[in-house]
Amino acid sequence: MLYLIGNWKMAPEKGTQAADLVKKTNDMAKLYKKNITTIICPPSIFLASVVKTAKAPLLVGAQGVAGSVEVAQTGKISAGMLKDSGAQYVIVGHSEMRARGDSNTDVQEQITRLFEKKLIPIVCVGEKAHDAQGWYLSEVKEQLETAFGNLTPLQAKKMLIAYEPVWAIGAKAQRAATPLECREMTIFICKFLTDKYGEKVAKAIPVLYGGSADEFNAKSFVTEGGAQGFLVGRVSLDAKRFNSLAKSISA
Ligand code: PEP
Repeated sequence: MLYLIGNWKMAPEKGTQAADLVKKTNDMAKLYKKNITTIICPPSIFLASVVKTAKAPLLVGAQGVAGSVEVAQTGKISAGMLKDSGAQYVIVGHSEMRARGDSNTDVQEQITRLFEKKLIPIVCVGEKAHDAQGWYLSEVKEQLETAFGNLTPLQAKKMLIAYEPVWAIGAKAQRAATPLECREMTIFICKFLTDKYGEKVAKAIPVLYGGSADEFNAKSFVTEGGAQGFLVGRVSLDAKRFNSLAKSISA
């Protein structure tokens, strides 16, 4: 089973557009449900209405959570609120959140809050720059070590990991990673998980790719890159292209 997660980021602007996008993504999720689990992560203001419009097998997640339960945090959203809205998954450690100040320790705290409310973390890891000597591996290792720091094997098994090289994400991306670069990192992540939890637990944790993935390059990330699915930004906001991406990996 592959995972296809749509990170809508800060879009669309209107609730009616969000509703239209969910309806189209409903159809897509149904069409490819044999091979693909589809999850959409809208902005939090649309969560409750998207949950209402989403139909099985389409699942809904959120884009972030507060790391502490302190009420005096203007603008933040707690794990309890996300749970109450009907979200099941939550993205943590996204590079756009890390760029605005989330540290590895913050990500760890957010994961703790999610498990307290039985929400499933989608944890993003990825290096800022890709140097020829491979120093970027230690950056990703540190992210993994803190994210999984306190987690029991039972908790770890519920997580999803998205390898998202920062230089490959969003409209300002240099380029997408190559399938070979993705392969190197999926192996690196699997080795980290196997060393920490053993092979059985490691095999239960899907490692996805994210960063300028589209309908043209997605298949090669699966066949050559070892990706078990995708965290997709821009393309998930275009129902036709998101559908084409799903089609390209479903066969
Ligand atoms: C993302 O936001 O996680 C992402 C991968 O964005 P994009 O697909 O637009 O590069």
